[in-house]
Amino acid sequence: MTETSESRWAIAIHGGAGSMTPETMDGAAVAAHEAALVVALDAGRVVLAAGGSALDAVCAAVKELEDDPHFNAGRGAVFTYHGTNELDAAVMDGATRGAGAVCGVTHTRNPVNLARTVMEQSPHVFLSGVGAEEFAREQGVEMVDPDWFATEPRWAQLQELKAKKLGWFDAGLKYGTVGAVAVDTAGHVAAATSTGGLTGKRWGRIGDSPLIGAGTYADDRAAAVSCTGSGEQFIRAAVSHEICARMRLGGEGAQAATEAVLAEVGDMGGVGGVIYATPGGETGFAFTTPGMFRGRADSEGLREVGIFGES
Ligand code: ASP
Repeated sequence: MTETSESRWAIAIHGGAGSMTPETMDGAAVAAHEAALVVALDAGRVVLAAGGSALDAVCAAVKELEDDPHFNAGRGAVFTYHGTNELDAAVMDGATRGAGAVCGVTHTRNPVNLARTVMEQSPHVFLSGVGAEEFAREQGVEMVDPDWFATEPRWAQLQELKAKKLGWFDAGLKYGTVGAVAVDTAGHVAAATSTGGLTGKRWGRIGDSPLIGAGTYADDRAAAVSCTGSGEQFIRAAVSHEICARMRLGGEGAQAATEAVLAEVGDMGGVGGVIYATPGGETGFAFTTPGMFRGRADSEGLREVGIFGES
């Protein structure tokens, strides 16, 4: 280890993978999304630079992304078929493999905070719907009127989906789930993911995001991973755990493991993206969609956001 490794930290965030290209996004939309990504990245960056934990950093970054209406999590979440916003989130601490998750919540302003509260204040890992929010109220987690989450563009997306009778996985639709992964100066990793799921979802459908081992996983022996994409295939491939398992048991590097598992998802007919952070201070990403809202920062001075793939 070099002397700089003692104070080394890194963070990566995503705001969803999808069909974004320079041709389909105008300059104002690009600027607005990039600005929102910078705010979230900086929220996590300042925590880590001050010697804070990876867990605090990923929660701080995801909270910003949940509050920002540009992304499909918290405020700005997509609508269900019946016109409600139902939110899922998970958090995991790589140092202890402690984990907390919630799904189908409708009043919790920041589902990532509730997921963390489940991890730290309950004997459970995964709470759902009404029960999750009963726990949230008991714990004093901030609650809002469901109107807080609703935005006009998301409502229009639902109407478009219904009018065109589009499938949930229509290639023209974006996945806007948000997530963050980080490694702190103590070498611990953490991951957090939050989503409104898929536009027009029904029957209580839950995707990969809040499922530990699917959309979210963190293990100091391998990496912290957060996913976005077609959740059904990400669940079937147990993407985030599979990446960590390949690294831990197969000795693969994070980038190789990530690309291999995304290829498996592709073989199942799924698309999406992944971000990771390793205890050694490495961050990275891969995606099989045209674009992914993303950002990275580290103690060496890296501070970047991006949307589109390499052309
Ligand atoms: N993976 C999420 C889900 O299936 C969707 C997304 O990434 O936007 O719920």
